[in-house]
Amino acid sequence: MPSDVFLAALRTLLAPADILTDPDDLAPYCLDQRRRYRGQALALARPRSTEEVAAVMRLCDAHGIPVVPQGGNTSNCGAATPDESGRSLILSLERMNRVLGVDTANNTVTVEAGAILADVQKACRAANRLFPADWGAAGSCRIGGALAVNAGGLNVLRYGNMRELTLGLEVVLPSGEIWNGLRALRKDNTGYDLKQLFIGSEGTLGIITRAVLRLFPLPTARAAAMAVVPGPAAALTLLRGLQTEVGDRVTSFELIGRPCFDLVAKHFLALAQPFSPTPEWAVLIELADYGENGPLSDRLLELLAEAGVEDAVLARNESEIDMLWCLREEIPEAQRREGVSIKHDISVPVSSLPQFLEVCGPRISAVFADAQVVAFGHLGDGNLHYNVFRSDKSAQAYSDEAAINAIVYDCVAEFGGSFSAEHGIGQLKTAILAHYRGGAELTLMRGIKQVFDPKGRMNPGKLFA
Ligand code: ZN
Repeated sequence: MPSDVFLAALRTLLAPADILTDPDDLAPYCLDQRRRYRGQALALARPRSTEEVAAVMRLCDAHGIPVVPQGGNTSNCGAATPDESGRSLILSLERMNRVLGVDTANNTVTVEAGAILADVQKACRAANRLFPADWGAAGSCRIGGALAVNAGGLNVLRYGNMRELTLGLEVVLPSGEIWNGLRALRKDNTGYDLKQLFIGSEGTLGIITRAVLRLFPLPTARAAAMAVVPGPAAALTLLRGLQTEVGDRVTSFELIGRPCFDLVAKHFLALAQPFSPTPEWAVLIELADYGENGPLSDRLLELLAEAGVEDAVLARNESEIDMLWCLREEIPEAQRREGVSIKHDISVPVSSLPQFLEVCGPRISAVFADAQVVAFGHLGDGNLHYNVFRSDKSAQAYSDEAAINAIVYDCVAEFGGSFSAEHGIGQLKTAILAHYRGGAELTLMRGIKQVFDPKGRMNPGKLFA
């Protein structure tokens, strides 16, 4: 068997514990976190250094073995799950999980691609710096995956997404050659910005092994409030009003619809609900600044009163702030416990978001009378998680997925938006990418793929169908 020759050669490159071939050991790496895709793999390799990654990649190149890079396996779109052929090698970065150093003079941190986001945040905090990327999976997702999908999250409003937080990358190319772009430069206009091609490429161009990321001074004061708003338009007015007064001290501004509160109340009985009765819409606002918590909280309360907000819960200390965030962050898990929904991760220009919500919901209801939209997310970024539940919450609900997607994504397109704001394409949205970004855009993307990966061995079936 040619695969036996390959595996024998692989065993000369890595320690025995760093290679998995037993189907039971491989199973969790072959299933995506939403349990939609179950693939098969020839083996899993978890190298411990860039040089080991390069050696494995050279071997895969010589043997024509497809490679599926994997970090924390938390993709929402099946981007890290191998196909069913069983021919691929999963290249896990989990052994390369070190935070290599926080550089307080340059305000940068250098990490290995397998570093867990929460560990990076913690190491930076210990050095009195902020690495602001943050989202629900922070405790399990890894930096390489976050870069590969250009993840966004809860603080994009103030600090930007992974693209904006990255200064340099080291990447192992499909041939095994190492590209050292691990530069810690704020300014570097030297032709095409290659690192930006790898960010968002979902493992289709090469394997990110190390990164230099931007840091910020660590804010010393936080204030948060959950505020009832009459609707998304009023929420947007409130956001712009707050920004006029306190600028980019507004770090998060999350919109939460009533069905989200209902789901969290149903599945997390112990979590205190902030409002009774439950409002149609509310926003979770966080401010960050330097100085003390008290004055910042007072200022937030004053601004909410001036804006005419009638009902709000102000967090008075860190644990109350965490409680408010807990409500927001348990929404995805509450949805999972409720059952299957058709999920969308959409963005439109921020000012169009209220109108999008007004138009899209009724269009879905007109075709699917039992549909319920669960919408929440990053209003300040024009990005919502827009999920559609039906009365049947079993896997049967996927049977109408294409029809519901068409309604939602056509509506998104009418507003000049995107069908994937922060979750990427993976294998879930390849046809949708081809449909909405066909023509010159897709042709150019395929051309880029051809330059980096002419043999088409990198993460096959992802991005492109
Ligand atoms: Zn999100």
